[in-house]
Amino acid sequence: MENLELAIERIKKELPGMKLQENEPMSAHSSFRIGGPVRALATPGDVTGLTRLCAILKEQKLAPMLVGNCTNILFPDEGLPDLLLVSTEKLQKLFLLPDGAIYAEAGVSLSKLSSFAQANGLAGLEFASGIPGTVGGALRMNAGAYGGEMKDVVESVVYYYLPEQTLYEISRDNCRFGYRSSIFQQAAGFAILSAVFRLPAGDKDEIAAKMRELGEKRREKQPLDLPSAGSAFKRPEGHYAAQLIDEAGLKGYSVGGAQVSEKHAGFVVNKGGATSHDVYELLMHVRNTVHDKSGIALEPEIIILPPDYCLVDDGPAVHRNRVTVTDVSGETQRGEN
Ligand SMILES: Cc1cc2nc3c(=O)[nH]c(=O)nc-3n(C[C@H](O)[C@H](O)[C@H](O)COP(=O)(O)OP(=O)(O)OC[C@H]3O[C@@H](n4cnc5c(N)ncnc54)[C@H](O)[C@@H]3O)c2cc1C
Repeated sequence: MENLELAIERIKKELPGMKLQENEPMSAHSSFRIGGPVRALATPGDVTGLTRLCAILKEQKLAPMLVGNCTNILFPDEGLPDLLLVSTEKLQKLFLLPDGAIYAEAGVSLSKLSSFAQANGLAGLEFASGIPGTVGGALRMNAGAYGGEMKDVVESVVYYYLPEQTLYEISRDNCRFGYRSSIFQQAAGFAILSAVFRLPAGDKDEIAAKMRELGEKRREKQPLDLPSAGSAFKRPEGHYAAQLIDEAGLKGYSVGGAQVSEKHAGFVVNKGGATSHDVYELLMHVRNTVHDKSGIALEPEIIILPPDYCLVDDGPAVHRNRVTVTDVSGETQRGEN
């Protein structure tokens, strides 16, 4: 706690241009519209600002937690008085590399990324156009929909490894992507900064039509008019979470302001005034009831805070190519992995 207060004082003094919101209510940022104040939310203006911020935090023995659009997180009502969050909101570089691949920084939204691909006649990101997250959050989660996943389209990822204060670039094959999982969630300390997407050429009109079709499917099936964090549970092997929840008679089941969506049983929605406790209790009730009825244990897909975020740990040895800060702007040659 004392270290965090010292870090905040240093950030104000040493990085005076950085946006730093103190005691910021996370209900204003999370797609669930739930969450008390986090001690501080820092928004670096660029990658250099982010690395300088992380250096201060490391010296104070703190590890920050990165956030993108907060569309997959349940923040506690009590707040997180000992946490500093780092938003990637301003990491917005997005351009075509000379070899035709797309370079995108972590804060670029998936809708912007997929529209950019479509405008450049590049196919494969249609699945991502309706996912409300950012490149960073989606790579960490290996987000996916309608048969596509981030692992299918990404070629390499640049991340900052907090314990070593070093930038690395790794190829897709080393990201250990699995169903809603990646190397970036297997240990603390990975800050995803940017990624390169290599996509095949496609017809612009066909790509746009596919994006419209998937958008319509979403609007028809999902409760997009109410705050949520997307699918509440991961898909258990050989089953669909929504079907199991529906068969357990839980569609529409509520705890306080939290409800299993009447439109799509895989979503938990905030009907108004839901607390994190309401959501948590509802998730546990669904999990227990489905387990009693089917013997299947559902695992939440939503990230429930607080986690074990304060320690900088060593993490697995996965790093490949070191890169410099100028490399990640895309201005110099990227190394092969
Ligand atoms: C209406 C709705 C529909 C959705 N549909 C889908 C869907 O079809 N498919 C799907 O997979 N998901 C879906 N989601 C969930 C969510 O949008 C995705 O998981 C998304 O990829 C999360 O991105 P984000 O930027 O919001 O991440 P956040 O919620 O901000 O963060 C998620 C996790 O990633 C970490 N993180 C974020 N940025 C970084 C970074 N730069 N470096 C390291 N770690 C980082 C955070 O610490 C956190 O652990 C949906 C959500 C909603 C609300």
